[in-house]
Amino acid sequence: MLKNDQLDQWDRDNFFHPSTHLAQHARGEAANRVIKTASGVFIEDRDGTKLLDAFAGLYCVNVGYGRQEIAEAIADQARELAYYHAYVGHGTEASITLSKMILDRAPKGMSKVYFGLGGSDANETNVKLIWYYNNILGRPEKKKIISRWRGYHGSGLVTGSLTGLELFHKKFDLPVEQVIHTEAPYYYRRKDLGQSEAEFVAHCVAELEALIAREGADTIAAFIGEPVLGTGGIVPPPSGYWEAIQAVLEKHDILLVADEVVTGFGRLGTMFGSDHYGMRPDLITIAKGLTSAYAPLSGSIVGDKMWKVLEQGTDENGPIGHGWTYSAHPIGAAAGVANLKLIDDLGLVQNAGAVGTYLRDQMQAALGDHAHVGEVRGEGMMCAVEFVRDRDDRVFFDAAEKIGPQVSAKLLEQDKVIARAMPQGDILGFAPPFCLSREEADQVVAATMRAVKTVL
Ligand code: PLP
Repeated sequence: MLKNDQLDQWDRDNFFHPSTHLAQHARGEAANRVIKTASGVFIEDRDGTKLLDAFAGLYCVNVGYGRQEIAEAIADQARELAYYHAYVGHGTEASITLSKMILDRAPKGMSKVYFGLGGSDANETNVKLIWYYNNILGRPEKKKIISRWRGYHGSGLVTGSLTGLELFHKKFDLPVEQVIHTEAPYYYRRKDLGQSEAEFVAHCVAELEALIAREGADTIAAFIGEPVLGTGGIVPPPSGYWEAIQAVLEKHDILLVADEVVTGFGRLGTMFGSDHYGMRPDLITIAKGLTSAYAPLSGSIVGDKMWKVLEQGTDENGPIGHGWTYSAHPIGAAAGVANLKLIDDLGLVQNAGAVGTYLRDQMQAALGDHAHVGEVRGEGMMCAVEFVRDRDDRVFFDAAEKIGPQVSAKLLEQDKVIARAMPQGDILGFAPPFCLSREEADQVVAATMRAVKTVL
């Protein structure tokens, strides 16, 4: 086994880490944590320190760590058939079975699943399918995609553009011109508007209508959104938001993409976030929860309306020119089948709803009245605490004094609990595995209270 010093040296010398301050890391200033093993909601580093992972990796290890059923399914698949491609109609029992299991669980009106590897490439696929669709329909001008500020849809060229967070655009020459942004449904942050929740929904609708009028409906192909904003701050929409937005989209013949990379397969306490909010998407993006991150796999679930046109397109133009070598990779598919079975067998969707609500209620009881906590919010197994300098006037701390990152560091140091300081705003996020128990939720809340007390 390698010595820690050796591993740290190799890490600094060779490993380009994603979403990392590269210079600090190279200088050895950034925290280095090498994770070795994990079970349930706990991960353990190479020094044997056990940490309660209240963010499920990157809100993806939904069934929890160390599930032998999934590990066995992966091993069996690797032994029997590690790989064959899915081009020109090929498949494996695992990929065909998984496509059926996904469609059985998906909202009404969905027709087929295209498999990819991660959420970013699935959203790239979505954009290409949308463009193809409008080309087949003879509307080559109808191509722009509307996304929301604070949305997160990936890190690629188009998907990094769809992402409405400055950090993902800065110095990368994004967004590309086909992507335009509109208001996020972030009621708490828009107190400056002095509106009721219903008035704020009307404001979001008016902003969308104005954008469509400015650009021309005949240039706009689709609108993409996460049912609950995730990386942008864990923000559930105000009541009536999705219904009102959908009415506008339908009026202008604009497709709806529900990005369910985080919310798909149970995180909100329903199988899909679209079910939770009555969304009627034309495309659904799935990834993380599809395999609970035991293997990389994503998907684009294509609705009936688009599917008919895609078929027509291939009759007119030949096979669709879109494929990845690893589309429907058998090992990912085997992990997906075992994962979805486990979610059903253990009733984990129900647990995500029940324990997630408990976690939020307890967090609210513990911190809701704190002078520097503006809001405790969440839905299902997603919860956020937003910090403010002044509660009444919603004045925020300066960037250099942000509380979220400090509380997150204290949580780790004092009680070995992982929560995520969200990349924009002053927000501490929780998104634990669905198997979190009430006792573990209590542990997270008590640790958070202690960390907040230490920092503030
Ligand atoms: N869409 C959403 C809603 C996400 O949260 C993420 C990742 O966090 C993505 C897309 C991108 O997925 P990936 O990182 O697997 O490319």
